[in-house]
Amino acid sequence: MSKVHNFSAGPSILNQEVLKKASEAVVNFNNLNLSILEISHRSKDFVAVMDNAVALVKEILNVPEGYSVLFLQGGASTGFLNTVLNYGNKNGSAAYLNTGAWSKKAFKEADISHGEAIIVASSEDKNFNYIPKGYTVPDGVDYFHITTNNTIFGTQIKDIPVQENTLLIADMSSDIFSRKINVSDYALIYAGAQKNLGPAGTTLYIVKDDLLGQTNRTIPTMLDLRTHIGKGSMFNTPPVYPIYVSMLTLEWLKANGGIEWIERVNQEKAALLYSEIDANPLFEGTAEKEDRSDMNVTFVLTNDDVKEDFDKMWNEAGISGINGHRDVGGYRASIYNAMPIESIQVLVDTMKQLANKYDLVNE
Ligand SMILES: *Cc1c(COP(=O)(O)O)cnc(C)c1O
Repeated sequence: MSKVHNFSAGPSILNQEVLKKASEAVVNFNNLNLSILEISHRSKDFVAVMDNAVALVKEILNVPEGYSVLFLQGGASTGFLNTVLNYGNKNGSAAYLNTGAWSKKAFKEADISHGEAIIVASSEDKNFNYIPKGYTVPDGVDYFHITTNNTIFGTQIKDIPVQENTLLIADMSSDIFSRKINVSDYALIYAGAQKNLGPAGTTLYIVKDDLLGQTNRTIPTMLDLRTHIGKGSMFNTPPVYPIYVSMLTLEWLKANGGIEWIERVNQEKAALLYSEIDANPLFEGTAEKEDRSDMNVTFVLTNDDVKEDFDKMWNEAGISGINGHRDVGGYRASIYNAMPIESIQVLVDTMKQLANKYDLVNE
């Protein structure tokens, strides 16, 4: 079988060694002669997986005292709702930065469940191709919600808008573990696993404990983050396999040098692809340069007549998953942590080959 270069936006590429270990555990986990899929989540062997996964998150992201790390279900989309229920006080309003489709969905939950939600700034006027700047969040809001990386539109917040006395909540689904973050800037971070951490099925929450319980509302048990903090993510059966594979990914990340290493690699990878997009006359990036994502690289052809040729070329090169999202069109190369630079080089070479074919030199 020839190699496939997987640029899928999510669920997305996982490290090959991680996949191999994960597949072994399906048949024989920890030499128990049992599958990880058929043992109790309260067994010693699985409890060790949960403990290790939580410890790795804390170590890799330098999570300070006073924060809990949870592996829950429901996807980041339930995180939208959990945000409102756990932090939205009935008497205040909730503030949102509107930077794309996911931000809008997060805001919608606040609008439905909270009543008083406001958008403090938006980039919708230009189809979300930039990150708004220079806005102020009004004093006294319950929290300020941001989406740190906009998976669909290929933008990323580079300067985190930390504001004194305002609880910051972030959906980091598509860039968690890709770069340094300062956890103490946040009241809550949540992220669906399936972009940069593991398979679909679990959602990571990093929660500052002492900011919970101030909402003056009744929260349904499963949606109350205190339920899960009290039970170490084991109030009900946790998604054992996604947590196990996430643990393996975190072990891989740590063994290679953690966040400092991956941030450097991710910057190199993104620079390689963006420099080809900028140099090649047949391609154009869709996001403003200063706001470009290091995870999701969105671009279009400058001449639609060459589309058929380009699509044929990248298919033949073994490239998969680069068709753009319907809201942007063109192409999107998702280059998450597990994507090796060699695969990006294959894409860059294919783009050069296309330019050469039309006698367009781009060096
Ligand atoms: C993929 C994605 C989501 C949706 O995650 P689900 O786990 O499918 O609910 C939310 N936010 C961002 C930024 C995403 O990339």
